Amino acid sequence: MTAQWQEQVSLKPFNTFGIDVKARYFTQVHNDDEVREALAQARRLQIDVLVIGGGSNLLLTRDIDALVLHVASRGRRVLSDEAGRVIVEAEAGEPWHPFVQWSLQQGFCGLENLSLIPGTVGAAPMQNVGAYGVEIKDVFAGLTALDRQTGELRDFSLDECAFGYRDSAFKRNPGRWLILRVRFALSHALQAHLDYGPVRQRLAEQGVQQPSAQAISDAICSIRREKLPDPAELGNAGSFFKNPVVSAELVARIRAQYPGVVAYPQAHGLAKLAAGWLIEQAGWKGYRDGDAGVHRLQSLVLVNYGQASGAQLHGLAQRVQADILEKFGVELEMEPNLY
Ligand code: FAD
Ligand code: NAP
Repeated sequence: MTAQWQEQVSLKPFNTFGIDVKARYFTQVHNDDEVREALAQARRLQIDVLVIGGGSNLLLTRDIDALVLHVASRGRRVLSDEAGRVIVEAEAGEPWHPFVQWSLQQGFCGLENLSLIPGTVGAAPMQNVGAYGVEIKDVFAGLTALDRQTGELRDFSLDECAFGYRDSAFKRNPGRWLILRVRFALSHALQAHLDYGPVRQRLAEQGVQQPSAQAISDAICSIRREKLPDPAELGNAGSFFKNPVVSAELVARIRAQYPGVVAYPQAHGLAKLAAGWLIEQAGWKGYRDGDAGVHRLQSLVLVNYGQASGAQLHGLAQRVQADILEKFGVELEMEPNLY
């Protein structure tokens, strides 16, 4: 069945910043055939297409003069379960966190540190979603995408996705691939990653000695609920800037002036700075200009108190970037996708 197109649709319910811009056309697609038909129709009518999932990594700065194609496909399945290794597959439109919870309920380990990330399975490879020391590249077993230029299906291996820190081949080539379904290699045996942030401490506080994957997920959910604003209550797109990876010399220069600088060693003598720390030191924590602001608990998160426009939030982000460059000599890169 062909998915219906609507005209002049408000995207406010479809982006977690809650920005009220309009899509010239809007449709929801539930399977491969509907995806193909919508893309073919847009091509015939010479209309651009913007693909969205949960809208939790978008900053919409204007009305979208295009077809907004909302991926709403559902389905998750076990493809194989041998010698303790399980391959599971989920359709692109599956909401991410319920998929993680489903995998844990099956007794499959591997996704627990990625609990409570908003959005969909299909968007997760776009920026190689990561949290608490795990990225999807660590459990990735392949994906199937549609080439929007040729209409052909293609399977991608781990190497072909070229995953990096909040980055992938898909993010670097926007508009080329529509991800249809993703596969993950999970395990019946837990390999716990507890050394990141306060995870181990939270489990200890809860009296958990030998945590299960579900206990780790629960601990991470409780930490996240305390620190991060819930988009249902306060519009946001999570971390607004990537944590910058910089040279050891630059860290040394910053440390000379700010001995408390937070830096994590990386490969090739580089270091990752906590962008939230830089923004807080520069005095932006809790800053508010109209309805656009920097969150009062987590400086890495920009928030919409109600009626902020995407342009206002973008303007605030640019002011923060300019200030961090001036004060620390560090360039902050935006994480959400700007339209
Ligand atoms: P959308 O915002 O809808 O789209 C993001 C990009 O992907 C767009 O460019 C879109 O065109 C493209 N896209 C969407 N679906 C497809 C598809 N099927 N095929 C091709 N392209 C597609 N991110 C992290 O990495 N780690 C975190 O811990 C984390 N925590 C967050 C916490 C909060 C409170 C919020 C609001 C966001 C957080 N994020 C985090 C960011 C965001 O949730 C993730 O990047 C998520 O994967 C985005 O999914 P989405 O479906 O909402 O994508
Ligand atoms: P946090 O624990 O306060 O730590 C601050 C930053 O330091 C994090 O961003 C993290 O970088 C880095 N860090 C902490 N411990 C580290 C270690 N042992 N080794 C290397 N780097 C370390 O961070 P938070 O803001 O509360 O977020 C917790 C986790 O959830 C982080 O992994 C974060 O990326 C993720 N998260 C992401 C988003 C998003 O929208 N992208 C939103 C909320 C939370 P990394 O970011 O590189 O992990």
